[in-house]
Amino acid sequence: MITVKNALARILESASPIGLERLDIMSARGKIIGEDIYSGRNIPPFDNSGMDGYALRAADTAGASGLKPVELTVIEDIPAGHLAQKKVGPGQASRIMTGAFVPEGADAVLRVEDTEAAGDKVKILVPIGKGQDIRYRGEDVKAGERVIANGSIIRPAEIGMLAALGRSFVSVCQAPVVAVLSTGDELTDIDGDVTQGRIVSSNSYSLAAQVKECGATLLQMGIAKDTREDLSEKFRACLRADIIISSGGVSVGDYDFVKDVISSLGAIDFWKVAMRPGRPLAFGKLGEKLLFGLPGNPVSAMISFEQFVRPAILKMSGHQRIFRRTVRAVMQETIKKKSGLRYFLRGTITEEAGKFLVRSTGEQGSGILKSMVLANCLIILPEDRTEAEKGEEVIVQILDNSFGMSADPGF
Ligand code: AMP
Ligand code: MG
Repeated sequence: MITVKNALARILESASPIGLERLDIMSARGKIIGEDIYSGRNIPPFDNSGMDGYALRAADTAGASGLKPVELTVIEDIPAGHLAQKKVGPGQASRIMTGAFVPEGADAVLRVEDTEAAGDKVKILVPIGKGQDIRYRGEDVKAGERVIANGSIIRPAEIGMLAALGRSFVSVCQAPVVAVLSTGDELTDIDGDVTQGRIVSSNSYSLAAQVKECGATLLQMGIAKDTREDLSEKFRACLRADIIISSGGVSVGDYDFVKDVISSLGAIDFWKVAMRPGRPLAFGKLGEKLLFGLPGNPVSAMISFEQFVRPAILKMSGHQRIFRRTVRAVMQETIKKKSGLRYFLRGTITEEAGKFLVRSTGEQGSGILKSMVLANCLIILPEDRTEAEKGEEVIVQILDNSFGMSADPGF
């Protein structure tokens, strides 16, 4: 039996980034960019107005006030999207809209609120300085500047920037293709009959959803029977994937053939991890491919995925941050555990007066899928402990973002 830490290290050692692919920018969201992005243009491309108002010469506004306005002659209207036709001379102004091209001769824009229209003239009510409310060419991005660094996550902001640069395609780190196979004679699909000793293969769906949550490409491979023949055949059908995940059949039961099948296809790296839930986990390799024989119990399967498969997928997808965030939280109850195993208890974490508090979701059996539904975190208790006491600080792995969100805007 190997420790969680060692198991993770062995897996990550074998997980290397897949490579790059070219994607349209909208499909690239959430992926890691695989190139430095240099701007081929200035943004904005021309000096433009930051306000609706008048483009003028700042010097003409000297001494202006509400009592002693300066009058300028309006020579042109410049809506956004149009070029200015006329040069602004002394004593002149052009009416201009936000984003419109600043005409030659003008060195400032005065917002409309500080003016009063008077026929073909405009009264200037305040003095302004040179450059006021002009957005200069290249003030956001200069041509030649690096705007997105290789290795960044592509978020909506990066997509907007790529669009502004005229880039509709971008190079990104490819996500692995992940095959999910369930094993067990007792399993049936969602709409199957559950009266004759059979159950729905919920792992087929929870694991599939976890794969999708990591941004990987999913292959749903269905259910294999508990025979060497069917298992081998279904595993072989998974071989076009970068990662193969099976669940069930990996324990010490009479029909647990997954280890044998993994050994016959590739090589078993380790079997059994000192953790609860999730002890019977088999990890193997076939060239660059990773094979995970996850335990069958629904909670064990999900937690093993969280601890081992998710970081591997994220690493193979080019991510640097591949682990869920952990925080310290105060236990709200005393929990006994067995020494020698690392426990991953399903918990609920809350924040009160700047402190994190955590309690277990109750019944912790590895078949109690409801414990995962109720949980927003995992309470991690180390191997050497035999209990976690009420009031003690423990390490908690946050599973979802809901606890970090707030129902009120906070302002
Ligand atoms: P096994 O390791 O194959 O003995 O499975 C352990 C337990 O998990 C058994 O009670 C199985 O019925 C259950 N189980 C195995 N595979 C699945 C699955 N795909 N969906 C839901 N439960 C499963
Ligand atoms: Mg089974």
